[in-house]
Amino acid sequence: MLVTEKAPAKLNLSLDTPMRYFDGSPRWDMVMVSADLADYVTVETHLHPGTIKVYTDSGFLPNDQRNLAYQAAHILRNRFHQREGVTIRIRKHIPVAAGLGGGSSDAAAVLRALNRIWRLDLSLEELATLALSIDSDVPYCVYGKLAHVTGHGEKIELLPAQPHYWAVIAKQQTSVSTPQILRQINYEQLHHLNNQQLIASLKAGDWATAVQYMGNVLEPVTMRTHPEIRRLKDKMIKLGADVAQMSGTGPTVFAVCHTESRARRIQNSICGFCRDVHVVTLL
Ligand code: ATP
Repeated sequence: MLVTEKAPAKLNLSLDTPMRYFDGSPRWDMVMVSADLADYVTVETHLHPGTIKVYTDSGFLPNDQRNLAYQAAHILRNRFHQREGVTIRIRKHIPVAAGLGGGSSDAAAVLRALNRIWRLDLSLEELATLALSIDSDVPYCVYGKLAHVTGHGEKIELLPAQPHYWAVIAKQQTSVSTPQILRQINYEQLHHLNNQQLIASLKAGDWATAVQYMGNVLEPVTMRTHPEIRRLKDKMIKLGADVAQMSGTGPTVFAVCHTESRARRIQNSICGFCRDVHVVTLL
């Protein structure tokens, strides 16, 4: 049987971390949303016992157990004693290692696809619990909808969908290592966000107030070594974005706009120096 799942990019409308756990990993407090910039993940199972094979159209990605999509299939296969061979084909559109959760979303898409193919009947909540061992963003990506995400990434509170907004997603050529940025966090220097206000505004459908509480406390950490991120963010705000900020640990910067024409204006103004620019709607 063959199933194709869309694997959308995630954006952090807010990203905060109040503390580290004893094992050194951050405790997260984030509001996440998905965008219609997506990979397409096709999962095929074979009647005969076999292995997991991953094919991608990107030369940069591993095809073995280091691929998060492979890990997702491996976990579900072992947990439910399935023996069938699994072939995964990924068409990448989400920039890699960009803070857009591309690998996590591919993994979540494999979980959803195999849940259908093997008729496991798992709820999204059960899939999200299994997903946490892959990466902290995978539980959110199982849902792929506006949500408040806390803990290691496993506590998900879905928030009401918002009206149609546009985002300009721009990734400069620079690359950022997430583990390196996480190691550099000095918790005493973080300027924490008021996520409760953000969530209350989103629940009230008050976008104008919500944008005032968006933010990413890791911006100063990544910008220390990547000042070009600040320059791009400042430019987007000057060009009239409702809000512009870094996603995840960067380097991607996104601008949210309430009209398509504003988003296109920003795209046209930055595409001269930043080639990887997408205008999308928020899901
Ligand atoms: P994170 O913040 O979790 O590191 P990211 O959103 O910045 O993720 P990804 O595109 O998910 O970026 O890539 C992060 C790392 O995961 C890369 O080093 C990449 O090689 C690896 N990876 C494994 N599987 C995938 C996949 N299917 N798609 C993209 N990257 C993958």
